[in-house]
Amino acid sequence: MLSVRDLGVAFGAVEPLSGVSFSVEKGETIGIVGESGSGKSLTAMSVMGLLPLIGGRITGGKIVFDGQDLTDLPERAYRKLRGGRIGLITQNPMTSLDPLKKIGPQVDDVARLHLGMDATQARARTVEILGTLRIPEPALICERYPHQMSGGMKQRIVIAMALAADPDVLIADEPTTALDVTVQAQIIRLLDDLVKQRNLALVLITHDMSVVAQTCDNVVVMYAGRAVEYGPVETIFDRPRHPYTQALIACIPRGLEETARLTGIEGTVPTVINYPKGCPFHPRCARAEAICATDPPDFSVEGDSAAACHFAEVAHAQPA
Ligand code: SF4
Repeated sequence: MLSVRDLGVAFGAVEPLSGVSFSVEKGETIGIVGESGSGKSLTAMSVMGLLPLIGGRITGGKIVFDGQDLTDLPERAYRKLRGGRIGLITQNPMTSLDPLKKIGPQVDDVARLHLGMDATQARARTVEILGTLRIPEPALICERYPHQMSGGMKQRIVIAMALAADPDVLIADEPTTALDVTVQAQIIRLLDDLVKQRNLALVLITHDMSVVAQTCDNVVVMYAGRAVEYGPVETIFDRPRHPYTQALIACIPRGLEETARLTGIEGTVPTVINYPKGCPFHPRCARAEAICATDPPDFSVEGDSAAACHFAEVAHAQPA
């Protein structure tokens, strides 16, 4: 349904994304995972055709949606797809909704714009979708303003807006970041149910490997604007081949004992103007050798799994 191949993005002379590839079919979830600054959200913005708004441009590769390459799609045509057949759930529900407008009209507008419904049809659809998202008394909620709702409810409204035009692909960019842990779990379960019920292709952007483990079929691990490992979720967790993936998995909290320690990855993600030459992870990688100052071999996302590491074919030790 959606296939991204070798995507490159530039802002002037700076290239924050290069060689990003992944694909997702209907009824599947792909996780894009990595620390802040790894290029996950920029990948989402590229697929949504929003780069020109922030001064960016695509320098190479393809974004193929339902057989059509979007990289040279005129803005007029993109406007029909964006928020229509490709929906977006943004990071922060607090800022995604218009504070001066009631909930009902905000969701109605999507169906009116993209499906050509009249006001009555659109409201009936809004009430139905809010009900599907387990929002109690949906007709009443339509008359409320965003400030009258909890964070979890606001995020459900944002999901309702993304669903209102009956999308084929849904991109959820850190959909639970601003929510407490209990509500996070509810939203993740909800998204998982929607993929199955509506046969959606879901692109789930997150920094949380435990969310990936619970919900995704396939995973792309990103670091410094590049895809560094790709594969089915079971393979990635059972036999991670890239040291960065291994480090992310090692950071998943284990055990509830007071003595249990949280693990981190030493160092910080490089900024876009300081991407290291060669393997971008080499300044932080415990396994780095001299060859790591040169680019790791390209890898394909066509096979079972692959990693952009000079030693990807060597059986690395499992993370602790
Ligand atoms: Fe580490 Fe070298 Fe592999 Fe990069 S190429 S992840 S530095 S071992």
